[in-house]
Amino acid sequence: MTTVVFQTPIYDLTADVCCHPPATPFFGANPLKPHHFIAPFKCIFTSTLGFSLVALLTACATPPPTTLESTPSTIELSIFSLNDFHGHIQPKSPTPLMPRLPDPKTGEVKPQAAGGVAYLATVLNDLRAQRKNHVFVAAGDLLGASPQLSSMLKDEPTLSALGELGLLASSLGNHELDAGLPELLRKTRGECAVGGCVWPEFKGASFPYLAANMFDADSGKRILPSHVIKDIGGLKVAFVGAVTRDTPRVISPRAIVGLRFGDEADTLNALVPELRAAGAQVLVAMMHEGAVHEGGANDRSYACPGLQGRGVDIAKRLDPAYAIIVSGHTHQAYTCKINGRLLVQAGSFGGWLTESRLKLDTTGRVLEAEAINHPVLQGAYAPNPAFAALVQRAAALTTAAREIPVALLTRGAQRSATAPFGDSPLGNLVADAHLAHGKKHAKADMAMTNSGGIRADLTVEPGRMVTMSDLFAIQPFSNNLIALTITGGQLQELIRKALPKRPGPASLQVSHNLRYQWSQAAGAEPVLESVTFEGKPLDLARDYRVVVNSFTADGGDNLSVLRQGRDRATLGMDIDALAEWLAENPKALEQIEPGRITKK
Ligand SMILES: [Zn+2]
Repeated sequence: MTTVVFQTPIYDLTADVCCHPPATPFFGANPLKPHHFIAPFKCIFTSTLGFSLVALLTACATPPPTTLESTPSTIELSIFSLNDFHGHIQPKSPTPLMPRLPDPKTGEVKPQAAGGVAYLATVLNDLRAQRKNHVFVAAGDLLGASPQLSSMLKDEPTLSALGELGLLASSLGNHELDAGLPELLRKTRGECAVGGCVWPEFKGASFPYLAANMFDADSGKRILPSHVIKDIGGLKVAFVGAVTRDTPRVISPRAIVGLRFGDEADTLNALVPELRAAGAQVLVAMMHEGAVHEGGANDRSYACPGLQGRGVDIAKRLDPAYAIIVSGHTHQAYTCKINGRLLVQAGSFGGWLTESRLKLDTTGRVLEAEAINHPVLQGAYAPNPAFAALVQRAAALTTAAREIPVALLTRGAQRSATAPFGDSPLGNLVADAHLAHGKKHAKADMAMTNSGGIRADLTVEPGRMVTMSDLFAIQPFSNNLIALTITGGQLQELIRKALPKRPGPASLQVSHNLRYQWSQAAGAEPVLESVTFEGKPLDLARDYRVVVNSFTADGGDNLSVLRQGRDRATLGMDIDALAEWLAENPKALEQIEPGRITKK
């Protein structure tokens, strides 16, 4: 009889701040290869909310809490999962993720470069080599809002790379629909884009996108498959995918014309009889929806105090027949259990890889479940040469456009709010750039931009020109800027609707001449206290000329007020406005006045 001892994760990233030496393998008997984590990895905490990142490094003496014995009548299955990759195949410019973690060599806790598909491949391949039964799946937003290197090639290198990584299937994400369903279907089939092929070796997606809850609005028929079933370790495992039902609220309305989105839990629950009838013994839910979590990327207790959001609600309503929920959309890294069932997410941009390990009996019943988020640290792994070469080929095809110099800046800017619920330095810069562009071309009064449209920090290296590639990482949606006219009353209503529902930068960032203040009592709805324009209270009856991006102008983020805007004029691309502003005002960042949005 073989005895496998389940042991504590090598990354003991726990909420109880309890740590174990790095020589301890995660599950199973084979220790990780020594070059991986040489050093004093201990406890790692990250908050992915953008501010107050805290890393704790604490030694602790208690031994691993559980040792489980398995017998030949049990099957161990490792489910590796990824979400919200957003085309981040490149290792830097932009660096996919900088979680605060101990340096693999020195142990010093500091921001660490993580991600890049060549590093992800190494982590995944090394772990797979140690697991008997494994599968690699994803929870959507693998494409869209991508850095220029992938985006200019219509994310085809990303699809190629994920296929070559052996991805079995992904749930659909809202961003897969950014350019509309026909464009997604073209990509999955490997056809050339209108205007010619962009990635010469592209053969399409070798994995299916699953969307059980997306229907043709007219026929009511499902457009993409709901699930795939795979035999693993003698068990039939069904992987079932759903996209957030909020897709219509977070995507440009024109991208989803004719589509209907059903409730995730209701849809997945209704599928259970069909999956069972097809012989599925284990059901894995992959959903592009998730939770918000202020704790660490790994919680060995799985209690995840404070975990909240739609992902939690769905998890509570989802049929217990589902063994695990792989989630996404909120860009958070967590390993939690809700009513005893795993709910996991791997952060974003390939900076983390989740491994969920299920111990199952021969009928597919879950006997034990554990999960860990492995950070894909560039300092701890060697890049996989084949994937590094793929990234190089994509880089070579896009060099000219990516390397257009913009300005020599002395400082960068963060997209996270300076004070919780307030404005962010980068939000202020972008809004000011849009206003400057709007003043030049459309007699604009003010500009506003959605925080969700700002996708990366502006990072500056001394002596290196900021390039279009850097700016594209910040604003990757190729949105047009739109000038439109609304009344002060409509503007007030717009800002009220955009008040944040959860911690982070306020969802509408504003130009220097617009300010607003708001408050929120515990458990109550947010209240807009005041709005001023050029130092004076907003005149509710007056018309204001406002610059916003096309996503917001079309009513994205549920801001339908802007669809009532009059005298619309298209002013050109958002990224060009930012480039122009920085080129003309390299000191713009130093001159920005913060405090435009305050919470009382
Ligand atoms: Zn999403």
